[in-house]
Amino acid sequence: MKQPVVDSEACIGCGVCAHLCPGVFEIVDEISRVKDPGACASCDCQEAIDTCPVDAISWRDTGA
Ligand code: SF4
Repeated sequence: MKQPVVDSEACIGCGVCAHLCPGVFEIVDEISRVKDPGACASCDCQEAIDTCPVDAISWRDTGA
Protein backbone atom coordinates (compact mmCIF):
# COMPACT_ATOMS: atom_id res chain seq x y z
CA MET A 1 0.00 0.00 0.00
CA LYS A 2 1.25 3.49 -0.86
CA GLN A 3 0.92 6.45 1.46
CA PRO A 4 1.81 10.10 0.82
CA VAL A 5 4.52 11.65 2.95
CA VAL A 6 5.49 15.31 3.22
CA ASP A 7 9.09 16.45 3.50
CA SER A 8 8.62 19.11 6.17
CA GLU A 9 12.05 20.58 5.38
CA ALA A 10 11.06 21.19 1.77
CA CYS A 11 7.42 22.27 2.26
CA ILE A 12 6.79 26.01 1.95
CA GLY A 13 3.22 25.79 3.24
CA CYS A 14 1.55 26.97 0.03
CA GLY A 15 -1.57 24.95 0.86
CA VAL A 16 -2.12 23.43 -2.58
CA CYS A 17 -2.09 19.87 -1.30
CA ALA A 18 -4.60 20.64 1.44
CA HIS A 19 -6.80 22.36 -1.15
CA LEU A 20 -6.70 19.37 -3.51
CA CYS A 21 -6.97 16.70 -0.81
CA PRO A 22 -8.42 18.25 2.34
CA GLY A 23 -9.07 14.85 3.86
CA VAL A 24 -5.41 13.87 3.60
CA PHE A 25 -3.33 17.01 4.14
CA GLU A 26 -3.63 19.84 6.64
CA ILE A 27 -1.50 22.89 7.20
CA VAL A 28 -0.15 23.14 10.73
CA ASP A 29 2.24 25.94 11.64
CA GLU A 30 2.61 26.75 7.92
CA ILE A 31 3.75 23.24 7.07
CA SER A 32 1.68 20.52 5.47
CA ARG A 33 1.27 17.29 7.31
CA VAL A 34 -0.53 14.08 6.45
CA LYS A 35 -3.46 13.63 8.80
CA ASP A 36 -5.10 10.65 7.11
CA PRO A 37 -3.12 8.86 4.37
CA GLY A 38 -6.03 6.46 3.83
CA ALA A 39 -8.17 9.35 2.60
CA CYS A 40 -6.29 9.29 -0.73
CA ALA A 41 -8.99 6.91 -1.87
CA SER A 42 -11.41 9.85 -1.98
CA CYS A 43 -9.19 12.39 -3.76
CA ASP A 44 -6.23 12.53 -6.14
CA CYS A 45 -3.05 12.51 -4.08
CA GLN A 46 -1.02 12.01 -7.25
CA GLU A 47 -2.27 15.40 -8.45
CA ALA A 48 -1.12 16.93 -5.16
CA ILE A 49 2.28 15.30 -5.63
CA ASP A 50 2.50 16.52 -9.22
CA THR A 51 1.33 20.05 -8.32
CA CYS A 52 3.47 20.71 -5.23
CA PRO A 53 5.79 23.54 -6.29
CA VAL A 54 8.77 22.20 -4.36
CA ASP A 55 8.24 18.45 -4.85
CA ALA A 56 7.83 17.96 -1.11
CA ILE A 57 5.31 15.12 -1.36
CA SER A 58 6.17 11.57 -2.30
CA TRP A 59 4.78 8.10 -1.97
CA ARG A 60 6.01 5.73 0.66
CA ASP A 61 5.39 2.05 0.20
CA THR A 62 4.20 0.71 3.52
CA GLY A 63 4.73 -2.85 2.40
CA ALA A 64 1.23 -3.76 3.53
FE1 SF4 B 1 3.84 22.08 1.18
FE2 SF4 B 1 3.87 21.12 -1.28
FE3 SF4 B 1 1.65 20.96 0.19
FE4 SF4 B 1 2.49 23.31 -0.76
S1 SF4 B 1 1.78 21.56 -1.99
S2 SF4 B 1 1.76 22.90 1.34
S3 SF4 B 1 4.72 23.09 -0.61
S4 SF4 B 1 3.60 19.92 0.60
